[in-house]
Amino acid sequence: MFTKDQVKINNLISGTTKVYGIIGNPVTFSLSPMIQNTLSSFLEIDSIYLPFPVEDGRLSNAIRGGHALNIQGFNVTHPYKQDVMGHLTYIDPLAKQIGAVNTLKYEGKGYSGYNTDADGLYTSLKQNNISLEDKEIIVLGAGGAARATLMMAAKYGARSIYILNRTLDKADLLAIEVKKYYNINVEVLPLDEWHKLPGDCICFQTTSVGMGKSKDKAPIDHDDFYKKISVAIDLIYNPFETLFLKKAKRQGSYTINGLGMLLYQAIKAYEIWNNIELTDSQLRQIEDTIERNIPI
Ligand code: NAP
Repeated sequence: MFTKDQVKINNLISGTTKVYGIIGNPVTFSLSPMIQNTLSSFLEIDSIYLPFPVEDGRLSNAIRGGHALNIQGFNVTHPYKQDVMGHLTYIDPLAKQIGAVNTLKYEGKGYSGYNTDADGLYTSLKQNNISLEDKEIIVLGAGGAARATLMMAAKYGARSIYILNRTLDKADLLAIEVKKYYNINVEVLPLDEWHKLPGDCICFQTTSVGMGKSKDKAPIDHDDFYKKISVAIDLIYNPFETLFLKKAKRQGSYTINGLGMLLYQAIKAYEIWNNIELTDSQLRQIEDTIERNIPI
């Protein structure tokens, strides 16, 4: 027995429906299918978006399979954002700079690769009226998300960037990468030397500390660290409010979680696939619909 909504969805899928999806491992808990399918319903675009779990060692097969099946585009998530770059016919300059691809678009001969994480994060800041121009920036972490954050902060006019990471070598390498592209002051510190940081900073929390098994932890524990932060952005969105954000809020910081970044990177990918640009009013309506449907 079908419900009315199921019948409606089934009737919407036809021989002309374009297929998109997300590849990664795992993809079980991804919110991307919900976000992308909501966008198609809202904009009345004939496409569907599915989760495609790709086992270790099968990325190349998955890309060739996608090509053979005329799948129009993919989002790429952990652990394939770097590896996928070896399977593309074109890589956008921003994705090259970030060193990772999260969006593939089928363009005739194969897939082109883009990175929408930095744009997504930037849009999330803009929606909160936060400017990076001439600001002191702290980035906690030196993984893939940190790299997108650093390039974004340098691109949008930060005065100095301080990278704090558990593994110092990784932060050193990231600092070298940013300076290759931007003329900016970048300093590296271990996490426990936070007291050397200046005050009134915008701080991006890009480590995985604060989610899953570490949901009761923050990368820096000392409350005095949070007094140095005027705006705290955590890239984690589940939980909605990490311990990092709670501590920052307690010291008076303006706080932003990672949901905006997730949403806007997804919208940017949708715009690339469909060659469209959403208006501010469409953005606001979509935000409302999606936020009401988030199962967190
Ligand atoms: P990643 O490349 O694996 O990097 C993980 C980072 O976390 C590294 O800097 C690592 O430090 C640090 N870390 C891990 N465990 C730690 C611990 N116990 N103590 C201190 N530092 C620790 O991961 P990623 O791709 O950058 O993702 C990082 C986070 O960003 C994840 O939570 C992810 O969900 C989130 N994210 C959100 C969005 C969004 O749309 N909102 C997009 C991308 C990522 P070491 O270098 O010392 O190992």
